[in-house]
Amino acid sequence: MLVVMNRKATPEQVNAVVAAIEEAGYVARPMPGGERVAIGVLHNKGAVDADRFLLLPGVKDVIPVTRPYKLVSREVQHHDTVIRIGDVNVGNGHLDMIAGPWAIESEQQALTIARAVKEHGAQMFRGGAFKPRTSPYAFQGLGEEGLRILAKVRQETGMPVVTEAMDHEVYDLVEEYADVVQIGARNMQNFSLLRRAGRSTKPVLLKRGLSATIDEWLMAAEYVMEGGNHQVILCERGVRTFAHHSRNTLDLSAVLVVIKESHLPVIVDPSHAAGRRDQVIPLSRAAVALGCHGLMVEVHHAPEQALSDGAQSLYPDQFAALCEQIRPIFGVFSQQVH
Ligand code: PEP
Ligand code: MN
Repeated sequence: MLVVMNRKATPEQVNAVVAAIEEAGYVARPMPGGERVAIGVLHNKGAVDADRFLLLPGVKDVIPVTRPYKLVSREVQHHDTVIRIGDVNVGNGHLDMIAGPWAIESEQQALTIARAVKEHGAQMFRGGAFKPRTSPYAFQGLGEEGLRILAKVRQETGMPVVTEAMDHEVYDLVEEYADVVQIGARNMQNFSLLRRAGRSTKPVLLKRGLSATIDEWLMAAEYVMEGGNHQVILCERGVRTFAHHSRNTLDLSAVLVVIKESHLPVIVDPSHAAGRRDQVIPLSRAAVALGCHGLMVEVHHAPEQALSDGAQSLYPDQFAALCEQIRPIFGVFSQQVH
């Protein structure tokens, strides 16, 4: 349930409603909006008696929330969330490009790619320092050294950096260096990791699990928001299907539904979805036409030498072409209303 305050409600009235909600045994989450404050009522087992809050001073309305996810839902916040990361805004009205290699391999590799993607139009840089690998024998990432290189990239280029925290133990370290902490597809339902992310002050990029339903994905985001961190970016990265013409199947209709269901920014990772570079540009065009708020793409200056996932990495000039091609598409569709 959601208690919506009057536009002129005083902070004392808001506090009084929060106290009344907590006195009734629920958890209150005030959410200041542009015009008015709304207060989420969480942890209720059954229906909440709306009347007990409706008559409190400063309350405009009490709205039932029907979805299992609350804070994530447009029922609780109608307008789009925009997340500010350094000078970059992610969300409604913005189209952001996050680009970089699958993994940080060396300082020279990272800086070469970062300079190229920045020149061609990237707003943020990505690169893994801790890599989730199917095989324990495969390259696992440079660890803290990779994080230090990312900090150098940020310092030199000014681009905020996105990198993955694979487990609870390493979160503190990653959070220290990253501007956005990525939670990978294989960890989407790692609930202790999600709770840790909820206590963070850094934005979280939450990838959809390989076989997660939309409800499961949004409930994972709910964990982070419920913990107090409202800066969540959702990322569709393809799901596992019977298709073998691509590594995964990019689920664009899920993007459509999630944009409708949630006020959070939704971005698309066509690189992991396709697994091959020839599909990355067309899938990106489709995703932008659909109204996503950004793309995360893998770019490598020498993909044939990449330690993994080279086949899905774009060459820098392909990334430049991608940025060129999506701009007019975004221009046509950016006026859409949800
Ligand atoms: C990645 O973005 O580097 C990655 C490992 O992605 P995913 O978790 O989607 O497989
Ligand atoms: Mn939008």
